[in-house]
Amino acid sequence: MPTNNLYKIIESIMILLDNINKLKLRIENICIDCNRNPQSVELLPVSKGYPNTLIQEAISLGFNKFGENYVQEVIAKRNVLKGANFVLIGNLQYNKAKQALTNFQEIMTVDNIRLLKRLHLLSKQMQITCPLWIQANLWQEPTKIGGCNENEIAYIFQIIKENHNLPVIGFMVIPPPNDIKAFNLSANLRDKWQQNIGKSLKLSMGMSNDLDLAIKAGSDQVRIGTAFFKKCADN
Ligand SMILES: *Cc1c(COP(=O)(O)O)cnc(C)c1O
Repeated sequence: MPTNNLYKIIESIMILLDNINKLKLRIENICIDCNRNPQSVELLPVSKGYPNTLIQEAISLGFNKFGENYVQEVIAKRNVLKGANFVLIGNLQYNKAKQALTNFQEIMTVDNIRLLKRLHLLSKQMQITCPLWIQANLWQEPTKIGGCNENEIAYIFQIIKENHNLPVIGFMVIPPPNDIKAFNLSANLRDKWQQNIGKSLKLSMGMSNDLDLAIKAGSDQVRIGTAFFKKCADN
């Protein structure tokens, strides 16, 4: 029955609105706590795995940029969700570099030199511009999460120093849960490289469960999936 369907859509939008309001309030309160301007923290919705209808609702609420983990999923979504921009926050395979450059507004997971060199070459061949974020991992925990160490980061800046098609706009990190040291190391890394290159850099750090710690440490962007899209995300 159409009315039933309409009711479902309204209910779904109400949940989304409620989630967004709670998130905004949470971010605002943390900012007040640590003397930051709430406007200085970007809320990036992470739409991986959520249905197009739900993403469409988020678009209708004013969001037009979404974090996604898989190149293939975004190619499909772009055909349906016109007007939405996607940024890549998932691991990028070497052989998907070309597709990533043409389908994402930003690539946030440059996590090794080989991939960076590939992007460097392709951006010149294809004359395509795509802002990059370096995924850093300075804590060297034996986790599955990749990322560049200090030496690799220095090398990356050197390689693409003259490549205006690939501006580095920040660092993306996934620190181990509750590891305040790792959160602070990431903020220091950003500060250091800002000084080194004389240009401001962003720090993308924090997800549904640790956005509080991340903002306190100085994150400029939190990437939120669960608390944004999921029903009853009260945590
Ligand atoms: C899935 C994902 C997120 C969102 O995580 P939530 O805990 O659902 O908020 C953020 N960043 C990356 C890299 C992710 O893969």
